Amino acid sequence: MTDAPSYGFDTLQIHAGAKPDPATGARQTPIYQTTAYVFRDAEHAAALFNLQEVGFIYSRLTNPTVAVLQERLATLEGGVGAVCCSSGHAAQIMALFPLMGPGCNVVASTRLYGGTVTQFSQTIKRFGWSAKFVDTDDLDAVKAAIDENTRAVFCESIANPGGYVTDIRALADITDGAGIPLIVDNTSATPYLCNPIAQGATLVVHSTTKYLTGNGTVTGGCVIDSGKFDWSANDKFPSLSAQEPAYHGLKFHETFGPLAYTFHGIAIGLRDLGMTMNPQAAHYTLMGVETLSLRMQRHCENARKVADWLEKDDRIDYVTYAGLPSSPYYERAQACYPKGTGGLFTFAVKGGYEACVKLVDSLEIFSHVANLGDTRSLIIHSASTTHRQLTPEQQEAAGAGPNVVRVSIGIEDADDLIRDLDQALAKACG
Ligand SMILES: *Cc1c(COP(=O)(O)O)cnc(C)c1O
Repeated sequence: MTDAPSYGFDTLQIHAGAKPDPATGARQTPIYQTTAYVFRDAEHAAALFNLQEVGFIYSRLTNPTVAVLQERLATLEGGVGAVCCSSGHAAQIMALFPLMGPGCNVVASTRLYGGTVTQFSQTIKRFGWSAKFVDTDDLDAVKAAIDENTRAVFCESIANPGGYVTDIRALADITDGAGIPLIVDNTSATPYLCNPIAQGATLVVHSTTKYLTGNGTVTGGCVIDSGKFDWSANDKFPSLSAQEPAYHGLKFHETFGPLAYTFHGIAIGLRDLGMTMNPQAAHYTLMGVETLSLRMQRHCENARKVADWLEKDDRIDYVTYAGLPSSPYYERAQACYPKGTGGLFTFAVKGGYEACVKLVDSLEIFSHVANLGDTRSLIIHSASTTHRQLTPEQQEAAGAGPNVVRVSIGIEDADDLIRDLDQALAKACG
């Protein structure tokens, strides 16, 4: 697939980055279950270690199975390169690592995955980094939050779990003006429903654990670079623009141009942080990506049917799904996410905390798990689980109050899902 970008999404999700195995002709991408690769000779080895030649050295850095997934995701997102990681959270640290240093901050949306709020508000402080949380609908607040130490703005395209959709273009205009990158977590939307790079994002991160793998088998993450950011335009990004002591004074941006960020992610990020994706995980995710568009179509269709039904039920207070005309984000969703707004939403149950707990315990098809983006329908009571570490104010801001449950609608028969919710609500609210 040499001129891959000219093919359509459904073709690229199956073929991009892959070709029959040169050694055996194997049609499916082999799982290269190896730690190391034999050098042709000592000179070849030295060239690889000096980054003068690209090739395989050791699987903490690169692996042929993982490389196929990287190329496939870079292609689907419209980026120049990608680095896969051991989880979505690893990908977030890997995305920030080349940009940040002690004293630097990231301006982050208040509407983020609960684990990301914790990672950004607590754990990154150990590196001397910090996060400033702002409502990304308030563009003036975003502008005001950016200071001379801000190195990125971070948001989710479709924010999990509150039914919120981001106007990426509006944020990209602000980050372009400030000379800093915009990082978009595209996990809930997937490249099928949203292309953040086409809307101006610099970097895209994924938890491949979710829809990309799609069957709840492996954790993984990915950072995709648009290749469009000028890392040398100012002195804010010395890891990419200045001399790198760990590579004999090499300057990544000067040497690798648009691939600077990706090369840094492998040569410094994976080499020294070691958050590597293993080839088995890459294999499962490659299998999932092959059917991404088909699954996302069904996830969207089923979610709309279930959300419609719930909204009309008098045991339910409200449903937050951007695909419903009642959503405050309906217009934006139609404009920015025309193929649909995914399979995730929340709804509030009139009986409050107690009814929510009974509901999750009474469902038969839905599984009560801390995951999303599976072929199976999943449910979770965020306030008692994923968002438990957050303050009540943070829970409300994230759309995860005590009377709210989050569903990840699977690709089963929508009528069966509705019947299951009906019988469980009868027990929960009876
Ligand atoms: C799950 C998730 C993450 C974290 O990914 P892991 O693979 O669990 O580390 C980050 N962002 C979003 C939107 C997620 O849904």
